Amino acid sequence: MTNGKPSIKVPSNLWEALAQLRRQPLAEFPTPLLPMRRLSRAIGGVDIWFKRDDLISFGLGGNKVRGLELLVADAMAQGAEVLVTGAGAQSNHVRATAAAAACCGLGCIAVFWGDAPARVDGNYRVTRMLGAEAVFTGDPDRTSVDRGIEALCEELRHKGQRPYSIPRGGACALGALGHTLAAHELFEQCRQLGLATESIVLATGSGGTHAGWLVGTRALGSPWTVESFTVSRQAEAVPIEIARLATEAAALLGLNWRFAPAEAIVHGGFIGAGYGIPSPEAADAIRLVGRTEGVLLDPTYTGKAMGGLLENLRRGLVPYRSVVFLHTGGEPAFFAGDGKWLA
Ligand SMILES: *Cc1c(COP(=O)(O)O)cnc(C)c1O
Repeated sequence: MTNGKPSIKVPSNLWEALAQLRRQPLAEFPTPLLPMRRLSRAIGGVDIWFKRDDLISFGLGGNKVRGLELLVADAMAQGAEVLVTGAGAQSNHVRATAAAAACCGLGCIAVFWGDAPARVDGNYRVTRMLGAEAVFTGDPDRTSVDRGIEALCEELRHKGQRPYSIPRGGACALGALGHTLAAHELFEQCRQLGLATESIVLATGSGGTHAGWLVGTRALGSPWTVESFTVSRQAEAVPIEIARLATEAAALLGLNWRFAPAEAIVHGGFIGAGYGIPSPEAADAIRLVGRTEGVLLDPTYTGKAMGGLLENLRRGLVPYRSVVFLHTGGEPAFFAGDGKWLA
């Protein structure tokens, strides 16, 4: 453990328990782990590697596909007919869920906060094309989605249908376990490459991804620290949510593990004007990564997290020789709106 607690003995059947979870295959794993040599040289002092979950081809990819393999399999095992989930109209999670529903012959209803956007672009365009039904809460409060999902499922059940609800952003214990598997996948790749990775860096929205990585990291004997940059909720609130999800995810594997909020390292300060609103730091990071590596980051998640990592590097706050940045995808958001933020 990085916090100095004695390391916990990992039950040998943990990975077996994970392997036995029902999975609906949607993507091909492992995703590539690639050195970003020109980017590393441009910033100096640290070797940056990208774990390319953006290259998951299914439904335009991204980290959400990992959780969906488990969630969709669970939905089908329960005989569900329709997936009900939600977030903002530009959600990667909703777009990936709509794709998963389509290829599994399930319906999909998306509950979005606020009102229908004026432009049908980016993820929202893909989500609509995939056949998902869109419902708007009319309330700009993001938690209105949670109430909307619940009410809609209730209504569908009343009509005799079998809905399967996936919480906002896909953040739930079962979905988080998809990211626990990703931690194992990276561990194996590092071992094959002889890469002693000290740090995993990612963008955090709802917290499910970070939570799953925490469970996996502890199970692997903590070979690295996991740090995220919040792009929506305030940094003080996020670790509580991550710890809760990690504890619940471990419980699904029969582990009586407790995660404390202090174990979830979450950096604030890079949300900019708000969730989904591109920041100048994200624009700089997107340009730098694009022009050194030809890799596209997105303005909502990965661009902001990379902006944060670059700033921490400049301030001398990254005491590692190598960092693996989780490229969690999200590129469709790059094509939403007028793109003036990049000008
Ligand atoms: C959802 C998302 C994240 C964050 O994942 P959470 O589990 O919601 O914290 C990071 N990057 C991208 C591109 C995403 O779509």
